[in-house]
This record gives sequence, structure tokens and C-alpha cells, in this order.
Amino acid sequence: MPSAEPLRSGAVSAGHRPADRRPSANPWKVDLRELGRRAGSLHELNRTAPAPADWRVELIGVPEGAEIGLRLRLESVMEGVLVSGELDVPVVGSCARCLEPIEDRLSLDVQELYAYEGSTTEATSEEDEVRRVEGDFLDLQPLVRDAVVLSLPLAPVCTEDCAGLCVDCGERLDDLPPDHSHEVLDPRWAALSQKFASAPQSAPPDQTRTPEEN
Ligand SMILES: [Zn+2]
Ligand SMILES: [Zn+2]
Repeated sequence: MPSAEPLRSGAVSAGHRPADRRPSANPWKVDLRELGRRAGSLHELNRTAPAPADWRVELIGVPEGAEIGLRLRLESVMEGVLVSGELDVPVVGSCARCLEPIEDRLSLDVQELYAYEGSTTEATSEEDEVRRVEGDFLDLQPLVRDAVVLSLPLAPVCTEDCAGLCVDCGERLDDLPPDHSHEVLDPRWAALSQKFASAPQSAPPDQTRTPEEN
């Protein structure tokens, strides 16, 4: 059989459900025709979808194309489709304290109502307040994007108690011995402390302003 356009429903041979048999289908879009509109009907959705570009904040983000795990439950309710479940999100970045690379996975819970066109919820909500069912489809990407980006830490750390970098030598403190220290005083501080040490303690504030080196 020559490769051809994905078959449209109705033309599919018995035994295969069309929604599962379309290789080119966008994994972020959910076909609602199987779920139907009868309140209470349920559909489990278990798939991965590739992350688009720019799901990131300053120091951490989802690599473009990384597979995001979607374990969702779609429930038909009066006003639309209630989507709830869990996301498994790979993230990479660097530690805000020591700059070590971080590789981690976030596990996020989501719950969101997608309103049907013409539903009361849709009619009484502002454009950006509610997600909407688009025809027979529901687009998961904006929901997942918001959940992911809002949960990315602004100051990610490699470990909860990462000690950061030594301010003197810039090495990672966690890689250094616990007694790591630098004896050398900054020359400017050394000069100042010398000056204070030699200043007469009871000198009146004005009058005795003779330069110390004469
Ligand atoms: Zn760190
Ligand atoms: Zn140091």
C-alpha cells in the first residue's frame, strides 16, 4: 500500500480507530469526537508531546523538542471539558548559586476547564479568562505552557543546601574542604586597619589634623 494522506474517518478499515492512527496529528491537539458531549463521559489521555522553543525563564527551561509527558483525564461536563492530571517535564539549566548544570524533571498537576463555544461559562468570561474548545478540538499546549513556565524557579539550585561560590577564589564551596579560607587581606583593608591602630584614641575631632606621614 503506497503511503498516502492519512485516511479520513469513515474510510478506515474496521478495527482501527481513526484518532489513534494519524501519524501526522499534532500531539498537543485532542480530538474530542471520541469523548462526545454527554456529561460524565471520560477519556484517559497518555502521550508525550514535544516542547516548543522558549519555554524558559532566566536560568532554567525546557529544551526545545524535549518530550513532555501528559497523563491526563478528560471529562465531559455541562460547560465544556474538564482536563486534569499530571505533567512530566524535563528541564535543564544552571544553579543560581554555583552555576553547575542542572538536569531535572518537574512533576506538575493541572486542572482546567475548557469551555464549549456558546456555553454560559464562555459567554460570561473575558477572552483571556477561560480556555476554549475549538470546534472538535482542544489545544493542550497553552495550558501546559502556563503550568510549566509558572513553575520554573527563578533561582534554581543544584542542591537545596548548595553553598555557592567562594567570594575570594570563585571555586564551588561544596567542592572545597570545609576549612577553606583565604588568609591574604585585601591591601586596601590592610592599610586602613594600620591607620586606625595607630590613631591616638583621645584626639579631638579638629585641630590635630596633622598628616601622619611627615
Ligand atoms: Zn549549586
Ligand atoms: Zn576560595
